[in-house]
Amino acid sequence: MSKMSLPSASQQSVPAILVLGSLNMDMVVRVSRAPGDGETIEGQSIAYFPGGKGGNQAVGCARQGASVCMIGRVGADAHGAALRAALAQEGIGCDDIPTDDAVATGVAVVMVDDQAQNRIVVVPGANGTLHPDPSVLASRLKASDWLVMQLEVPLPAVLMAAEQAQKSGCRVVLNPSPSQSLPAEVWPWIDTLVLNESEAQALTQVSVSRPEEAAQAGQWFLFRGVRQVVVTLGAQGAVAVDAKGGSFHPALPVKAVDTTAAGDTFLGALVVTLASGGTLNEGVTMGLRAASLCVQTVGAQPSIPTRAAVLRTPQ
Ligand code: ATP
Repeated sequence: MSKMSLPSASQQSVPAILVLGSLNMDMVVRVSRAPGDGETIEGQSIAYFPGGKGGNQAVGCARQGASVCMIGRVGADAHGAALRAALAQEGIGCDDIPTDDAVATGVAVVMVDDQAQNRIVVVPGANGTLHPDPSVLASRLKASDWLVMQLEVPLPAVLMAAEQAQKSGCRVVLNPSPSQSLPAEVWPWIDTLVLNESEAQALTQVSVSRPEEAAQAGQWFLFRGVRQVVVTLGAQGAVAVDAKGGSFHPALPVKAVDTTAAGDTFLGALVVTLASGGTLNEGVTMGLRAASLCVQTVGAQPSIPTRAAVLRTPQ
């Protein structure tokens, strides 16, 4: 695997990344094991963390040194104010995160067991009413190098942004999570598709659990017009696929305590590496290193490492 040889921050311009996506308050409940049907169990603790895939990926990119703006939506409640404040503290532009007076801020109830497995229920709230103004979107895209999106906001907003981004020369990264069927026209608009094994399986209708199967799934997307694909395989690592072929990259051997936001952390480090001129393999290597730190800490955004911390991990 190639070693990182990216230019230093002083030698390159800071990439401008626009994230369009969800903002949730995560309520993290720790349990020894998940309850069965009709069963009540006692939890060990509860904590509140800023989250949502959009917010997490925005923080993931910002902590890797990118200049980040976010398009999202929150409710007129304490969770919404806290989420905006958390992003602002990271230096993320929040001008395009309006308040919806009619619905609550999105909430995710995250249950983490002693095996570090999580089970999550998301109530979308204001995320479900995100419909960006096309002219605002156009001006934000003009000022951005890369657009990062997931599927926790209405699909029409994602499709409109992907099409506009492609027309304005802004590279599109899609994390199709939670998975849902997508129209065929979207694939050629996507520069980099980042998805986990179950999302790859749902979209390709082919079993994806081993690296060879992930590489085949990657080819499925390439055939439909995506330029490069990364399939993450949890504790196994990740597979990168582009026109030159596929490569498997094992995860760093660490003791995971909470995998929440591991995928979002991976994506942030990958995208900032690509946007800084790195190769796909270099991006995946940085993604694995960042995610290995994330899984060793509880919570979504608090567990996302900085670039300096990632650079201290073994290569
Ligand atoms: P999440 O939804 O929890 O954010 P995800 O399902 O999108 O995650 P995963 O494939 O589970 O994504 O994990 C992303 C990356 O995180 C993996 O490619 C790997 O680098 C790292 N990772 C996940 N679990 C572990 C683990 N147990 N040990 C080491 N690294 C891990």
